[in-house]
Amino acid sequence: MKALITGGAGFIGSALARHVVRDLGWNAVVIDKLTYAGNLSSLSEIADSPGFRFVQADICDRAAMDAAMREHQPDLVFHLAAESHVDRSITHAAAFIETNLVGTFTVLETSRAYWQQLSRERAEVFRVVHVSTDEVYGSLGATGLFSEDTPYDPRSPYSASKAGADHLASAWSHTYGMPVMISNCSNNYGPYHLPEKLIPLVILNGLDGRVLPVYGDGSNVRDWLYVDDHVAALCLIAQKGKPGRTYNVGGRNERTNLQVVHGICDLLDRFAPKARSHRDLIEFVTDRPGHDQRYAIDASRLENELGWRALDNFESGLERTVRWYLDNGAWWEPLRARGVGVERLGLADKA
Ligand code: NAD
Repeated sequence: MKALITGGAGFIGSALARHVVRDLGWNAVVIDKLTYAGNLSSLSEIADSPGFRFVQADICDRAAMDAAMREHQPDLVFHLAAESHVDRSITHAAAFIETNLVGTFTVLETSRAYWQQLSRERAEVFRVVHVSTDEVYGSLGATGLFSEDTPYDPRSPYSASKAGADHLASAWSHTYGMPVMISNCSNNYGPYHLPEKLIPLVILNGLDGRVLPVYGDGSNVRDWLYVDDHVAALCLIAQKGKPGRTYNVGGRNERTNLQVVHGICDLLDRFAPKARSHRDLIEFVTDRPGHDQRYAIDASRLENELGWRALDNFESGLERTVRWYLDNGAWWEPLRARGVGVERLGLADKA
């Protein structure tokens, strides 16, 4: 099996690339522009594997994408490349429109051109998995879950651009009969997560004795999933999912932002104790504009139709994540030195 992974130098894409090359023995080519969020060192574990290739390219570049398809002849395309940070989308929306919409259009068109010239046998195997977020569904009140039938109601420039990309993916499936599946996943966490996002930001600020800023009163709820569980879901969807279908992915791990921050502080108190509790570093800051109150995913379709189960619960996954950051300063120190996550961007959400 050969996978083409866009955005494979990012947080989730690199976890997917490491898994398919190292654990499944597939060949993989990563296409990534290496924006501020892309990091080749997240791929160092597989960089020398004979079945792995890296191509630095912009997914909006039609010629580069056509060439990558022709040269690498994938069976599966996992499309993850995106501008992914809600706070940045509020201040710098243009890149989100360009990459998330024009880039997705280009990935779909190049995949279509490639798919149409495949032999019948190979065309039957070929799949595109368009990787998206639960944020396209908007915000929930205190109860209820997002299902695949929940109407789209994106609230931020990020989620609106992802919603548009999902509609393009769906249109390419309906109009051209392309074997595209869409996955909408909740907040991911785990190793190699860029330190502008909530969990790594709090871990690293806590280690440095810096302020741990929390939006509003910290009551916003997110549904957390360990990144390797998301990766397993993507591989299952690619191999067993029904073309044209959408699958929600989530770990049934709802936590308020404040609970998450408290959990990290308590782990840091155990593994990297300071004179005072890390909880003393928490500071409540002005809420993000349009901050969605609650996200929660109903993943029953994925569980019932494809047999997926999240293997990690939040407490064990969070402990593993904190330990990873403690043990892997060589990965994050250069990022912090460049200012990523040190500024007050990105306090309370993934993405
Ligand atoms: P990330 O920001 O860590 O990685 C994105 C990667 O895409 C980076 O390596 C970046 O260099 C690359 N990229 C950006 N623009 C590009 C372009 N024009 N051409 C080529 N490469 C480009 O993001 P992530 O958290 O790994 O998210 C990956 C995907 O999963 C995104 O599509 C995101 O919307 C989706 N998603 C993320 C989460 C989450 O919790 N992080 C949850 C659900 C869905």
